[in-house]
Amino acid sequence: MPFDSHIHLGRLPHPKELAQALDQAGYAYNAVACEPAEWDPLWEIWQNSGLKEKKCNLAFGIHPMSVLQAKESHKQMLRAFLERDDCFMVGETGLDRRFPEYGPGELQEKWFLFQANLALELKRDLQIHCVGDYGRVIGLLKRLGFGKSPSDSRPIFHRFGGDIGIAHQILEMGGLISVHPSSLTKKSSRSALADIPKEMLLFETDADESFWNASDTIGTPAMVAESVAQRLLDALGNVREAAEDL
Ligand SMILES: [Zn+2]
Repeated sequence: MPFDSHIHLGRLPHPKELAQALDQAGYAYNAVACEPAEWDPLWEIWQNSGLKEKKCNLAFGIHPMSVLQAKESHKQMLRAFLERDDCFMVGETGLDRRFPEYGPGELQEKWFLFQANLALELKRDLQIHCVGDYGRVIGLLKRLGFGKSPSDSRPIFHRFGGDIGIAHQILEMGGLISVHPSSLTKKSSRSALADIPKEMLLFETDADESFWNASDTIGTPAMVAESVAQRLLDALGNVREAAEDL
């Protein structure tokens, strides 16, 4: 069964209809809601579409891009969403040098530490976004205790862009590596992926609003959902196939 380890279902057109079309196509996924405004709509779809029975899962968190909008009260809200089902993951969260508050001790790091701690406390997997400094992200995770005694919280490095040294450190922490088409175009990441056990790899589309086509505004919601579902299947199939040639 195709499994997409990182998709922004709520940012795609007609997410409810899309969840149905994906189900009919036998496509399962981790859907990520990484801004407070996305949490409740995704939860609604989860409730009403029986996604759990379909081997899908959800992640709730605050993206490094959104930390300036995040409020203290969101901490309690995030915990409450995660406590609604013990399979839910935390994230995506992490560090991204392209956005404000990236430096050590600044807001991105504060929200990352909060969410990583929450993942450890609740024994949940952690969806990690990293653009910039893998060494710093890994150092912070190790300091919190990831990778010490067998942990129930696995760091999942989404859209992997590190090299072989980073890949080994992730595996030593009991983490997983999620492969996006961009992971395969970067030379150092590509050769790292060729060198690690295939069972440690996940595959993803990271599909969000940038995945939209102009045609996604034409037709009934069900028709649009069906064509988007087909594009997702193709995109995920392509990245899996390309990884086989590593
Ligand atoms: Zn994402």
